[in-house]
Amino acid sequence: MEVIVADNAGFCFGVKRAIKMANDTMDGGGNVRSLGSLIHNPQVVSSFRSRGLEVVADLDSIDPEDTVIIRSHGVGPELKNKATSLGLKVVDTTCPFVTKAQQYAAKLISDGYKVVMIGDKNHPEVIGVVAHTQNQAIVLDTVEEAEKLRFIPRMGVVFQTTHAIGHVQEVVGALLKRGKEVRVFNTLCGATTSMQKTAIELSGEVEAMVIVGGRQSANTAQLAEVCRKVNPRVLQIESAEELHDDWFHGLSRVGVSAGASTPDEVIAEVVERITNMEPSAASA
Ligand code: SF4
Repeated sequence: MEVIVADNAGFCFGVKRAIKMANDTMDGGGNVRSLGSLIHNPQVVSSFRSRGLEVVADLDSIDPEDTVIIRSHGVGPELKNKATSLGLKVVDTTCPFVTKAQQYAAKLISDGYKVVMIGDKNHPEVIGVVAHTQNQAIVLDTVEEAEKLRFIPRMGVVFQTTHAIGHVQEVVGALLKRGKEVRVFNTLCGATTSMQKTAIELSGEVEAMVIVGGRQSANTAQLAEVCRKVNPRVLQIESAEELHDDWFHGLSRVGVSAGASTPDEVIAEVVERITNMEPSAASA
């Protein structure tokens, strides 16, 4: 089986940075806690756990001498202030792309705009950005929701960093009809946009695509979705163990891409497993 891996597959700059900062912090010793899973990848989280990094849901369960890691998705200003006022050592791995989105959202609010964020309201990054607007921002994610919005004279728009450019363009198109002055900040992350672009191109050149990444990972889900628009045969998996010969029956050329929090080793295992598929299963 021929397997082609898309350029830019796997760890993005923001995730590499967060992992390095977490590793450096662990090397420094002491109790280290992560506020939520460090990244949306079970293998990486489990490897950090084996070194003693405990994931906590809130600050209340952390002792004052402990160090707390804020993950790349970021948090709201109140949570960060609370951590500092509790005396915790804070290691902030918020991705610079997410910080930009937080800053634009805060600026829009202080300049008198009603902020609309295009994103998943339950995603930690979106919750953090909205917290930078004193929780005033409206979050929506579809053209239908945008069309139902009340008229807003001064509207400021930001995006969840990992959204697909085509999707936000459609929603912004609908928002333009709901406002008089509509100010849009492009807060899409360059790493995700390039990853999606190369995966879309590869999807058009292969018989099927395999997308690797954590099930909780928003950018992995987006990657699978944009590929499906070009090639309906897309399989989304978390690890090589989920691959079955049946799915590859009759295929000879398969593409692979991976979400921004997928380690190289996981991608390599997937590629090896597909490459070594039984010839009868691959080409029958
Ligand atoms: S996907 Fe983009 S925004 Fe998210 S951590 Fe990576 S570089 Fe940052």
